[in-house]
Amino acid sequence: MSVRVRYAPSPTGLQHIGGVRTALFNYLFARSMNGSFILRLEDTDRTRSKDEYVQNLYDTFKWLGFYWDEGPDVGGPKGPYIQSERFALYREYAQKLVDMDKAYYCFCGQAKLDQKIATPAAANAAAVADVDSQEDNAQAESGYGYNRHCRSIDPAEAQRRVDAGEPYVIRLKIPLEGSTKFTDLLLGDIEWKNADVNPDPVLLKSDGFPTYHLANVVDDHTMEITHVMRAQEWIPSAPLHMLMYQAFGWTPPKLCHLPMVLGQDGQKLSKRHGATAVDEFRKKGYLKDALINYVAMLGCSYEDGRDLFSLEDLSRLFKIEHINKAPAVFDYVKLEWFNGQYIRQLTLEQLAGAMTPYLADAGLVQASPTPIEAALIAQAAPLVRERLKYLTDAPEALRFLFAEPAVPAVEEMLPKKLDAAATVRCLTTARALLVEIGVADHDTVEAAFRAKAEELGCKLGDMLMPLRMAVTGTKVSPPLFESIHALGVEKALPRIDKALAVLQAAG
Ligand code: GLU
Ligand code: ZN
Repeated sequence: MSVRVRYAPSPTGLQHIGGVRTALFNYLFARSMNGSFILRLEDTDRTRSKDEYVQNLYDTFKWLGFYWDEGPDVGGPKGPYIQSERFALYREYAQKLVDMDKAYYCFCGQAKLDQKIATPAAANAAAVADVDSQEDNAQAESGYGYNRHCRSIDPAEAQRRVDAGEPYVIRLKIPLEGSTKFTDLLLGDIEWKNADVNPDPVLLKSDGFPTYHLANVVDDHTMEITHVMRAQEWIPSAPLHMLMYQAFGWTPPKLCHLPMVLGQDGQKLSKRHGATAVDEFRKKGYLKDALINYVAMLGCSYEDGRDLFSLEDLSRLFKIEHINKAPAVFDYVKLEWFNGQYIRQLTLEQLAGAMTPYLADAGLVQASPTPIEAALIAQAAPLVRERLKYLTDAPEALRFLFAEPAVPAVEEMLPKKLDAAATVRCLTTARALLVEIGVADHDTVEAAFRAKAEELGCKLGDMLMPLRMAVTGTKVSPPLFESIHALGVEKALPRIDKALAVLQAAG
């Protein structure tokens, strides 16, 4: 049987690192086994599911550049499966369980209401609300459970009440005794006493909507999912799900609950630790390949002694047996290192393309750069490829290429121990050298500057510092001669002249 796995997010928040890790492991496992990777939106919670989060999910996949394999519109844009479009199916399956005497109608919301509410219309509306809120309570608060009141109602009597239009929910009959066991691929055997499982959870709500549990199990079965890889926080739902598979008479998929992702302090990774939403990483200037590589290593190993893996490498090397039991720790410094590595690996053309949106955001170029801007960006790429940590560092490092910096103040241009007059001499000499030999050959220029500095009796740095300030407007620019080369000597000279004027006025 070929492997079929799914990523089943609920669109109730922005996609974060944990979700991407789950999606990625499922995707990699599918690829490594020649199987299928499915995306399923678990939007049964109609109040918390939001369109913007669905959009964020799609944007995340688009940015990361890997996709699900199938969906209901094969032939068009494929999939994904969306639970809110499948409610009829879940109703049908809940009904099957009632027919098989594995589930039953519960009217408790209505019973309570009879005492409280007079008008039939109000009663009806409130009944719907009450039955559901009871279900929410039962699930949210451990310790508070349903008392199985309706489990003993005679089925014929229950059917009569349903036919008469009384609101109801459908509840699963949890066995009163015994225990439920399953083997997690990672954590081994897990056993729960049935007495500790939420007593008779709601499968179908009074408005006909399924609960998360019903939709999840029906979908995993009907979609022929072979392996469920998901976050460890779902372990408590697993016994209930196993009982549902038993009730239906279905073989459950294999379960594999993934190790937690923690911050450096051992707490669950959260906003307190830094960025967690994928969008934040994108905006901060991480390359998606660096993020994918790093996230794939959160709790899983691939090949000893190696850190850098492409998505293709990971797809080939992924093994469930290589997932760690221990929680993974998210290390922002390590991720930064990965990002730097991936920036160095880009071709100059790729780097130019990758930097463009960040330069545009900083207002340095148009969103679709003009030919002149595009040429400048191409000149800029080699200046920064060896030193960028993030793409967001590019605008500051390269600003001088796109806009003339303000003329520096005198103090900013004086090397240590030199006064304005001496600095003027250094800068004038530097200017003359640039005019004489240009900057095309960086090594020759540097040698020439060094020789001149010796002649003047100053340090090389004393000549470069005011020059750097004058041309780039900062003390920490990319390599100076390469920067002047990218800018063009003819554009550098007027900047030098303005700086000289300021220095002369002071001297
Ligand atoms: N819908 C659940 C979530 O939002 C996933 C449950 C599962 O993977 O089985 O995380
Ligand atoms: Zn009841």
